Amino acid sequence: MNELLNATHDPQLRSWVASANGAGTDFPIQNLPFATYSQGPQGARKIGVAIGDQVLDVRATGLIETSDMNALMAQSPAAMSALRAAISQGLSEGSAQHAEWAQFLSPQDAVTLHLPCRIGDYTDFYTGIHHATTVGKLFRPDEPLLPNYKWVPIGYHGRASSIGVSGQTFHRPMGQTKGPKEDVPVLRPSHRLDYELELGVLVGQGNALGEPIAMGEAEAHAFGMVLLNDWSARDVQAWEYQPLGPFLAKNFASTISPWIVTMEALAPFRAPFTHPESDPQPLPYLDSPANRKQGGIGVALEVWLHTQAMRDAGLGPERLSQSNFLDAYWTVAQMLTHHTVNGCNLQPGDLLGTGTLSGPGPDQAGSLLELSQGGKNALTLANGETRTFLEDGDAVILRALCERNGFRRIGFGDCRGQVLAARAQAAVG
Ligand code: MN
Repeated sequence: MNELLNATHDPQLRSWVASANGAGTDFPIQNLPFATYSQGPQGARKIGVAIGDQVLDVRATGLIETSDMNALMAQSPAAMSALRAAISQGLSEGSAQHAEWAQFLSPQDAVTLHLPCRIGDYTDFYTGIHHATTVGKLFRPDEPLLPNYKWVPIGYHGRASSIGVSGQTFHRPMGQTKGPKEDVPVLRPSHRLDYELELGVLVGQGNALGEPIAMGEAEAHAFGMVLLNDWSARDVQAWEYQPLGPFLAKNFASTISPWIVTMEALAPFRAPFTHPESDPQPLPYLDSPANRKQGGIGVALEVWLHTQAMRDAGLGPERLSQSNFLDAYWTVAQMLTHHTVNGCNLQPGDLLGTGTLSGPGPDQAGSLLELSQGGKNALTLANGETRTFLEDGDAVILRALCERNGFRRIGFGDCRGQVLAARAQAAVG
């Protein structure tokens, strides 16, 4: 079907790790995502690969010499492809490594998963055109999309220091906000706290300062993808965002999933990518035959909410919405190329967020801002609770799956984060 496929994608492949062969697992042998983990929170950091409900210590196999994910990410795509092939072969049923490698497995629920790599820089794009349109309508009913949107992949530089891994908790942020009926702003806990359903691209090989990455090479600089929840304080955002864009509304916490699903693992789910004929076509530097042929990636996304009341009642989380990365307006290659067209240098481990990934339907919105239409219409949950924005104790879980007929389904694992009550105001002063 496409030249990106190889023996590691064979849907018939089975692993001697039995849990990898179950229908429900996110981590069959066709996935093989990378994480940084340790035995206990203080244990030595290791590079692991997920297989079913286990994690494989990759360095112990002798296939790599580093325990540092950023060093691995700097490897060439050819070297990474060879590593994937060797891991796939060693974990396959009947492999000669079965007895030896079995000693290098740990149950995932018995280890500590860390941020997968050092994230030096974080950029958040705005590729979700349905999100941009819906949010734009709230502010500008006559012109929801600004004139630049279909020409330039919009983004802003975010903050890397507050990015945490799934399981992250954070206090409701304080911020300066000004309500519509108030004359002056007040410092108080955000009362319009929201999530954003996003994917993140983790950069592999970097580029030298001053040397742009062309479309034809762009994906060679993408190591893989994670889920990203770009928590947002909408009331802070509304007051501060003009003229320089998001600042404190976004930098108090961002949560990513621990497993990096490699671009190679995503190969079976590639799809043609074009803008509608009635839209401006990408400028030549953002266009390539490969991007048109297979620039899209089918990733089905879900947002789940688990409130304190649900947990107290022993209820599971409730799904709020579903969308797909195929509905984004710009591709991974276009984000990488645009980011570097001025010579900006990307480094291994840099994170590029896609922006909120909403679909065209009202129930496909990737934020509460959209689902509650700017806080005007509360959602009613199955247990009778209502939400316009997040309450203290709310946990948000993002999930992602890739499915296609003729291929093994792969998933990303959960990206979970939880809102704690604001710190006592006295502590802020
Ligand atoms: Mn965002």
